[in-house]
Amino acid sequence: MNKFQILVVEDDAPVRNLITTTLKAHDYRFTAAVNGSTAVMEAASRNPDIILLDLGLPDLDGVEVIRRIRNWSNVPIIVISARSEDSDKIEALDAGADDYLTKPFSVDELLARLRVTQRRLALIQSNSQPSAVYENGRLRIDYVSGCAYLNDEEMHLTPMEYRLLCLLAQNTGKVLTHKFITQSVWGSNWDNDVGSLRVFMATLRKKLEKPPDSPQYIQTHIGIGYRMLKIE
Ligand code: CA
Repeated sequence: MNKFQILVVEDDAPVRNLITTTLKAHDYRFTAAVNGSTAVMEAASRNPDIILLDLGLPDLDGVEVIRRIRNWSNVPIIVISARSEDSDKIEALDAGADDYLTKPFSVDELLARLRVTQRRLALIQSNSQPSAVYENGRLRIDYVSGCAYLNDEEMHLTPMEYRLLCLLAQNTGKVLTHKFITQSVWGSNWDNDVGSLRVFMATLRKKLEKPPDSPQYIQTHIGIGYRMLKIE
């Protein structure tokens, strides 16, 4: 039996059935909720490992559900969005969601997102003791000395690239929005300056990704943001 307990929040029965059937077939344990207020209660009482949350719910907005759960819990939340616009996903990510799926999605996509989130969960759990060193595949960051290494060779990063790398590393597995990144790295004066972010990201990637045109570490989410992946 898969030890992960998933809370599925979806009012649309066919989609809910697709998800729960998939979870059952892959030995996940799960409970289902059909509205936002039940979801918040279930999240509190059952302490799930991962929440799959539809954004369009009959009572509470999904983003409001995220805000309430984030008052006490860091449980990874994958939102399910029916709308093709990015704005609702961005709002959900900024409210504290970790990842998103867009309807209609395939079973393979669902399982892939769950695997990424399980790796993030393992990281969160192993990082309960704050560590001065970050390690991910060939990448190592020594926060104390303020140096990053690739294959044990020091990377020559500008202060901006180093801050970007640290922010991504500290949120490994989570999709970070452009707004979140620019605010964290530059402060609100640069709020959502996606053009500058893209330039710094490109120079960071040239130093981090080998070869630079097939990124392994930093994943681009077009129109939304970036994510550092955990290398297995
Ligand atoms: Ca819905």
